[in-house]
Amino acid sequence: MIKSIIFDVDDTLYDFRSAHSAALGTLSAFIESVLGVSPEAFIALHGETFRLQEARLGNTAASHNRLIRFQMMLEALNKPVALAPAMAELYWTALLACARPLPGAPETMTQLRDRGMTIGVGTNMTAEWQFAKLQRLGMMPLIDFIVTSEEAGVEKPDAGLFALCARKAGCAMSECAFVGDSLKGDALGARDAGMRAFWLYRGTDAPDAPPGVVRIRALTELPALMDTQ
Ligand SMILES: [Mg+2]
Repeated sequence: MIKSIIFDVDDTLYDFRSAHSAALGTLSAFIESVLGVSPEAFIALHGETFRLQEARLGNTAASHNRLIRFQMMLEALNKPVALAPAMAELYWTALLACARPLPGAPETMTQLRDRGMTIGVGTNMTAEWQFAKLQRLGMMPLIDFIVTSEEAGVEKPDAGLFALCARKAGCAMSECAFVGDSLKGDALGARDAGMRAFWLYRGTDAPDAPPGVVRIRALTELPALMDTQ
C-alpha cells in the first residue's frame, strides 16, 4: 500500500523548459545591452558553460547553481564577475514569473492527501530556489516534506536521495511512490531504490516503460493508479 507520494519539481510540477528559455531570453537581452554580447553568442556560451560546470562539479547540487554558472560565463568573456549576482537575480525573477503549475498538479496533490497519503518533494537542486519555486507555484501548503540534493549530499538517481525521502515520510521504500519526468534520474532511480516508480512522459509518442516503471501522460492519472498499487 502506498503511504507517501513524492514528486520531482522541474518539468514535473511545472514546465521548467519554457520558463528557463524565457528567463535566458530576458537575461541575454540584458547582457546585450550592458556588454554588447549578442543573444546568440550568449545562449551558446551558456550551453558550453553548463557542460563545463557539470564536468567540474559532477553530480552535486552546485552543478545547477546559476550564480556559479554566470560567474563562469563572465570569466570566459573576460568581464567583471561583479555582474554575476545581478544576472542570477534577473534570471530567477524571470523564471519564477513564468512558472505555472502543470495542469491538474495542485488538484492531484490535494486528492492524494485526501486519501491519507503524505506528499513529498525529491529534487536535484539547491534548496533556496526549489523552495522559491514551490512558494511561487502555491504548493507549499500541500507538501509534507522536501528533500533537495543539496541536503541529501547526492543527486538522483543515487539511492541515498530516495532513502532520505522515505525516512522523512516515515515509511518503507516499498510504501513510497515517486513521480518524475526523468526516466533515468526519477523513474529508474526510484525503482532501483525500491520505490514504486511513475514516469511522467509528456511527449506525443508512446515509448515503452521499462519493467517496474509505470508511464503516465499527466499527473491527474495518479489517484486512480494508486488504487491498483
Ligand atoms: Mg525533472
